[in-house]
Amino acid sequence: MKPPAFAYRAPESLQEALSLLADHGDEAKVLAGGQSLIPLLSLRLARPTVLVDLARIPGMASISESDGWLVMGSMVREGHAERAPLVGRLAPLLSAALPFIGHPAIRSRGTVGGSLAHADPAAELPAVALATDAQLVATSAARGKRTLPAADFFRGFFETALETDEILTEIRLPPLSEGTGVCFQEVARRHGDFAMVGLAASVRLANGTIADAHLALTGVAPQPIRASEAELALIGASPTKAVFEEAGQLATRGLTPPSDLHGSSGYRTVVAQVLVRRALRVAALKAGADYEELDSGRGDLR
Ligand SMILES: Cc1cc2nc3c(=O)[nH]c(=O)nc-3n(C[C@H](O)[C@H](O)[C@H](O)COP(=O)(O)OP(=O)(O)OC[C@H]3O[C@@H](n4cnc5c(N)ncnc54)[C@H](O)[C@@H]3O)c2cc1C
Repeated sequence: MKPPAFAYRAPESLQEALSLLADHGDEAKVLAGGQSLIPLLSLRLARPTVLVDLARIPGMASISESDGWLVMGSMVREGHAERAPLVGRLAPLLSAALPFIGHPAIRSRGTVGGSLAHADPAAELPAVALATDAQLVATSAARGKRTLPAADFFRGFFETALETDEILTEIRLPPLSEGTGVCFQEVARRHGDFAMVGLAASVRLANGTIADAHLALTGVAPQPIRASEAELALIGASPTKAVFEEAGQLATRGLTPPSDLHGSSGYRTVVAQVLVRRALRVAALKAGADYEELDSGRGDLR
């Protein structure tokens, strides 16, 4: 199908883009990489009368470091972030997740901000934002800038805290503490498909025990979720198979993942448990856990 008719605007400054959003309210939609919005228009699942293209606004695709934080403009293309050495150094969990998004052609257009603002329940980057305690900066003409923790940003099925007159302008990822290992894992039907279940994980070890753990699941709920109960149980524990097995159980307690023709709710639950065990193992090894101690005992976590 062809998209319904719309006016196309390509402002050359952020101020101009914000004014357009303020003037047109929910009739307007921001266009970033177009990898999700254009298909929605073609299927007539979205019918904005004005598209506000962010591509010509200078300064929205920069990647920099500030006090150890990774600071990215929302128009950074996924492929650019994937190849940027600074992202690899400051935000290895983001680097680990990016190659799972679609295919190189999609990542060459799709933007980091677009993926977060779109908030697909099976997308990788919202889980990374949640697991890293990212801060998301929203800007509007009327109220200026406000900074939202990722935990407050994702509100539900394709729903975020962004107001209709706001643009997500910046994404900030805090520095990783020393002794932290990270891992992103997912199960999809084919490489490049949206995840059936995905997991962004980090583990910090201090004196051989777990000092901190972050686990964010995608594909199991209307929005990405932190496995807080499992995270709490991990703190102070030794990185062992039994502990990670238990964390997998705790991470899925009370969850009812969606069922569809690709997999039942029960199947997704088991996949989530397996991913938690596997990702914790990899992250703990990267954090310096003892390989033999971690792998001693019964079972196979690989
Ligand atoms: C074949 C295919 C496979 C894909 N596979 C995956 C996958 O495996 N995993 C995955 O996560 N994604 C996947 N995607 C989606 C891809 O990652 C998109 O790039 C991303 O979801 C949206 O980013 P975008 O820049 O293209 O945004 P757009 O499509 O331009 O916009 C998406 C939505 O976000 C809003 N928006 C965008 N930027 C902003 C902003 N800065 N401020 C406020 N609102 C904004 C738009 O108004 C729109 O509602 C796939 C896409 C395709 C076509």
